[in-house]
Amino acid sequence: MAGLPSGQEKAQTPTPTPLGVYVHVPFCATTCDFCAFYQTVPKGDAIARYLDGIEAEAGLVEWGGRAAATAFWGGGTPGLLKADQLDRLGRIMLLYCGGQPTEWSVELAPATVTAERLAVLKALGVTRISLGVQSFNDALLDALGRQHTPAQVYRAYDLIRAQGFASVNVDLMFALPGQEETQWRADLDEALRLAPDHLSTYCLTFEEDTALWVKLSQGKVKLDPAKEALFYQRTWDYLGAAGFAQYEVSNFARQGHACTHNLNTWHMYEWVGLGPSGASQHAGWRASNPPDLGLWLADVGAGRRATADRTALTEALLASDAVVFGLRMNAGVSLPRLRKRFPRANWSGLEDLLPRLLLEGLLTATQEGVIRLTPRGRLIADAVGAEVLEAFEAETRSTSR
Ligand code: SF4
Repeated sequence: MAGLPSGQEKAQTPTPTPLGVYVHVPFCATTCDFCAFYQTVPKGDAIARYLDGIEAEAGLVEWGGRAAATAFWGGGTPGLLKADQLDRLGRIMLLYCGGQPTEWSVELAPATVTAERLAVLKALGVTRISLGVQSFNDALLDALGRQHTPAQVYRAYDLIRAQGFASVNVDLMFALPGQEETQWRADLDEALRLAPDHLSTYCLTFEEDTALWVKLSQGKVKLDPAKEALFYQRTWDYLGAAGFAQYEVSNFARQGHACTHNLNTWHMYEWVGLGPSGASQHAGWRASNPPDLGLWLADVGAGRRATADRTALTEALLASDAVVFGLRMNAGVSLPRLRKRFPRANWSGLEDLLPRLLLEGLLTATQEGVIRLTPRGRLIADAVGAEVLEAFEAETRSTSR
């Protein structure tokens, strides 16, 4: 690679980083108003063809004899698969990914939770269930276009607990159209009453090409950044007082229940994404599968996978993303450690940026070189991340000249 600027050299990681497997299950019965994920209504034999595609794709992955440390099934709605289909998906994954992962998460929508499906997942070795509750308030669920009721949430939660999974997460959303602070507090109280091991609390976002985006453009709902900031702050304070340690902007866990798969992703380790729209960062490149069941099936049927936006992993790319995602974590970023891991990334752009972020009270830094967002910085984590990326990119541009 002689002659290339340092920031563009290919990363050579001496010790393999942990490998994760993400399986995208792209089926939903209906589309939630806020949803920007790829999903489709399963028609005819779509699920059977999807499972054949997963088997074909898993056979194409350059596993290199490595076993996956963690697995995550998301969607879409994995629970739309019947028990025997979940079993087949699990067996395919276990066959190819080197045996039982130490952590295996499955997202489930409350309306899809049955004792039969849970028994299959438990027998496969799933360790963690993530229940997509979003809210306990009927009217707010309706406003999101969600198809479940609070009664279905309670029933699903009890069934999940009865199966004895090691870890249970509850997903909630806040800053919903018309949601008052007291209603959000009531949702948090109700979630705490269930006593999950992990809570994910997401601020509602307005993504293009969603029903919510249309409502926004028609003036039927409004953005309210001040309310969002208030809800964030109240959430952090309230869950902290309730014994949940915040470990990322949107994620809280009781001791020992943080999601390792997500942590490994944010540390910019490696993952294999299977299924339509599945994204991979593995074997020296980053790429996504087509977000379309038919196109993805055609790809894997022809022996191709993850062909879109295939990008070589460089130290510059990994270092900048490790800082951006690292800053979203409460543990922060150890700059000496990252510099050791990516010695050929060009760090001077970030060094120029840091004093201003410190001065503006968005970051703190320890003597050991660990930088962390302050609560104020965490409220604008996306904007800080954009500045970090720009600093790395500007530096790469200047060294390329
Ligand atoms: S269940 Fe999830 S993936 Fe499906 S439409 Fe709703 S938000 Fe999107």
